[in-house]
Amino acid sequence: MSDLDGIVGALKSAPSVAVLAHVRPDGDAIGATLGASLALGEAGKITAAYNADPLPPGLACLPGAADLLREVPIGRRYACYLILDTSDLARTGGLLDGRPENAVVLNVDHHADNTRFGDVNWVEPGASSAGEMVYRLLTRAGFPIGRAVATNLYAAILTDTGSFQHGNTSPEALRAAADLVARGAAVEDLAAGMYGNHDPSEWHLLSEVLASLRLSPDGRLAWVEVTAAALQRAGLGLEATENFIDFVRSVGGVQIAMMFKEASTGEVGVSFRSRGSLDVARLARQFGGGGHRNAAGCTLLEPLPAARARVLEAAQSLLI
Ligand code: 5GP
Ligand code: MN
Repeated sequence: MSDLDGIVGALKSAPSVAVLAHVRPDGDAIGATLGASLALGEAGKITAAYNADPLPPGLACLPGAADLLREVPIGRRYACYLILDTSDLARTGGLLDGRPENAVVLNVDHHADNTRFGDVNWVEPGASSAGEMVYRLLTRAGFPIGRAVATNLYAAILTDTGSFQHGNTSPEALRAAADLVARGAAVEDLAAGMYGNHDPSEWHLLSEVLASLRLSPDGRLAWVEVTAAALQRAGLGLEATENFIDFVRSVGGVQIAMMFKEASTGEVGVSFRSRGSLDVARLARQFGGGGHRNAAGCTLLEPLPAARARVLEAAQSLLI
């Protein structure tokens, strides 16, 4: 039995399924979560979608987003917990803490550094996105993929391929996306909701963040910072900065793009992006984080200037 069939078998026999993904969610985490939960609901399961952290503003347009819950209500127990796009259990943000002892944990992920924390694990680093994996899962199980499910899974693939620009834009990802469009994925409305519905305060914050752009003397490292003070001025949370790193990566000649994010709690989150074979997950792991070869992150428990100095030094040595 393949890992995929193990997941399908467990889902078919479970009367109730909680679906969730990693903290600080992106469009893949949320699209895969909502897509899977809506499809399981249509297949007759008791189900709900969870995420421990707030939605980035561009994801509120996804079908079912309004029903997403931040925590599992006390006393609500599920036979099965389907964890998507999440490399280790700590990144579920505590959503599994109150689960019944005999609950089955299903781990469906495309991070190469996944810790195989589930009772059944299906980990495919070659998959473009968790959304593509959920698409394959639903197809294999024969669960329905209606318009709302298709829109969510398409959003997931769109996010993790960088709108079909990154190296993970595989034939499989494009075939899944094409089939999802055939099933009614709302391509144009989705793009308008995800990328064309910004609040002016986001652009005010972006202008402040981009003003902090710095490059190393050789132009191969580029970074920006998001300070807690700037967030407060804009009246926004860190989730509003999700895509700012794309501007840093788009500077010609840059091999490693970084964004330092100062949380009000004093922690500093770091986003890393690279191109081609340059592995920023390795860099993130040096600081207790992880991710993919070309997109990774970590959190440091020290003031921003100290965190930035240590990370820049490590990034510089990766280029040597
Ligand atoms: P982002 O920069 O958008 O927060 O994260 C980029 C990628 O790195 C995502 O795939 C995300 O799951 C992963 N990532 C971000 N922060 C962490 C972290 O602290 N630990 C691990 N293991 N992965 C992370
Ligand atoms: Mn993903």
